[in-house]
Amino acid sequence: MSVLVYTEHTEGKFKKSAYEVVSYAKAIADLMGTSVTALSIGNVDAADLAALGNYGATKVLDVSSDKVAQFINQAYATIVAAAAEHTGATIVVLSNTFSGKGLAPRVAAKLGAALADGAVELPQIDGDKLTVKKTAFSGKAFALTELTAANKVVALNPNSFELREMGGHADVETFSPDIPADDLRAVIQDLVRAADKVTLPDAEIVVSAGRGLKGPENWPMIEELADALGAATACSKPVSDAGWRPHSEHVGQTGIAVSPNLYIAIGISGAIQHLAGVSASKTIVVINKDPEAPFFKVADYGIVGDAFEVVPKLTAAIKAYKGN
Ligand code: FAD
Repeated sequence: MSVLVYTEHTEGKFKKSAYEVVSYAKAIADLMGTSVTALSIGNVDAADLAALGNYGATKVLDVSSDKVAQFINQAYATIVAAAAEHTGATIVVLSNTFSGKGLAPRVAAKLGAALADGAVELPQIDGDKLTVKKTAFSGKAFALTELTAANKVVALNPNSFELREMGGHADVETFSPDIPADDLRAVIQDLVRAADKVTLPDAEIVVSAGRGLKGPENWPMIEELADALGAATACSKPVSDAGWRPHSEHVGQTGIAVSPNLYIAIGISGAIQHLAGVSASKTIVVINKDPEAPFFKVADYGIVGDAFEVVPKLTAAIKAYKGN
């Protein structure tokens, strides 16, 4: 009985969500009186692997075969399930990121495990039962899910659990499970990254704009605010459909789901399909000239005003604040 945590990286560098899941797995392991083994797939520096010990991993299994240098859903699921069997882990933790959403159900199926995806808090543990609070209905509600199977998979929403640094280094061990050829039938040949300064799913602050901006020529104002805050930019669906912004920025039910610490919505009405992708944000600020805009109902802070007047003033104030 132990906890296995799968840690995601981008081009050899761990994402913040990787440290979050290790901290989360360690907190679960502490409740169970057991230890955490982390799993890394792809090519990550040995020093970075060992540094997972700082967040509570005792051991790191390193799968650095070139065959799986890029994310391949089927193959990664095989490796995670093999690592769980190898370590005797009964709980597998991973991040509910874009890749994690594909991986978690596959791992659960392979292990015959119960699955809770979209976890937002530390579970309650009662004997062999885990009660997990998770988002439901595209983030519009929370569900308490009881996992009673012997094996359990929990996928944690990014930005839902704080990083807990505790010092120390983990032992790194090479792990080379069999990867059936069938798992390698769909392989990524090339990856062209969006040129974003901050990637949207990982961003802690998101500045998002909608049709209220009138046209693509007005986005420099949004980018300037995002730059001042170190934020990623996002948009509503009609904006990307119209080609004003790339589809990689479209958030919502049919786009990317984000859960930043701060989501600033500018000239977006707050349709239910948009809210489905952003309502897990910790703090929501809405700027809209219509006081009846539905977005205000879910806003923590709202500014009723014309974006073309409010946004430049906000950017100037942030720059002045940071200048001091
Ligand atoms: P609008 O609804 O046109 O709203 C513009 C807002 O800007 C208004 O509230 C207006 O008051 C305000 N405004 C105008 N001028 C100014 C100004 N000068 N200053 C400040 N405010 C101003 N949408 C998504 O975003 N994501 C999705 O994933 C998504 N999926 C969908 C899936 C389905 C099946 C369907 C049917 C729809 C989906 N939609 C999605 C579309 C969604 O229903 C809305 O149509 C869309 O979100 C509206 O975009 P918007 O708020 O930018 O535009």
